[in-house]
Amino acid sequence: MPIFGFFSPTELILIVVGGVITLWAQMRVKSTFAHYNKIRSQSGITGAQVAREIMSSNNVYDVEVEETGGMLTDHYDPKSKKLRLSSEIYRSSSVAALGVAAHEAGHAIQHHAGYAPLHVRNGIFPIANLGSQLAFPLFIAGFLFRSGFMMDIGIWLFLGAVIFQLITLPVEFNASSRALVQLQSGRYLERDEIGAARKVLSAATLTYVAATAVAIMHLVRLLILRGASDD
Ligand SMILES: [Zn+2]
Repeated sequence: MPIFGFFSPTELILIVVGGVITLWAQMRVKSTFAHYNKIRSQSGITGAQVAREIMSSNNVYDVEVEETGGMLTDHYDPKSKKLRLSSEIYRSSSVAALGVAAHEAGHAIQHHAGYAPLHVRNGIFPIANLGSQLAFPLFIAGFLFRSGFMMDIGIWLFLGAVIFQLITLPVEFNASSRALVQLQSGRYLERDEIGAARKVLSAATLTYVAATAVAIMHLVRLLILRGASDD
């Protein structure tokens, strides 16, 4: 019963549980951010300023900070050496905005300092990205055409994507801890404000932990299906 295998009760439970975990993590980061975005920091510095100051006090002078569209689209682009902050972060001086801006500055500092997990992550990104797109189609095709070889390739590709997500975790935790240290030592945030920034960054990191957990669940799902096929 080939097709049926994808819709067995276990399959459905895995898919639903995975979806719920992902949604929950995303809702949590949005609500935590919204809450602490209303609290203005005592220093009054903006996200853009704090990112620039943290980078220059860590000898990073070649990264440009620019404003970008969208919500929570903030990221550091190691290729063009640009730190892009969404308008809400760029212009705001809320404790949430300073936390996010400092976190992105943390990624720029990681890049500058040659932080190994970041380099491994950036190095395997193209393969992992392609792998995550091809893994499921290949596996399903292998399943339908009863090709164990194709299913195995699908599993290996998906494993690559899971490894990528696992390496992302230390990179994210490290950027957040660098951010909190910098925010405190530079006196951009007061002691009680640091706690708020930590909550925002922990909620953001939780989305990565959730994505990794869901990816591992899907990997297990593929392995169970592979085990059940007799090819
Ligand atoms: Zn990050």
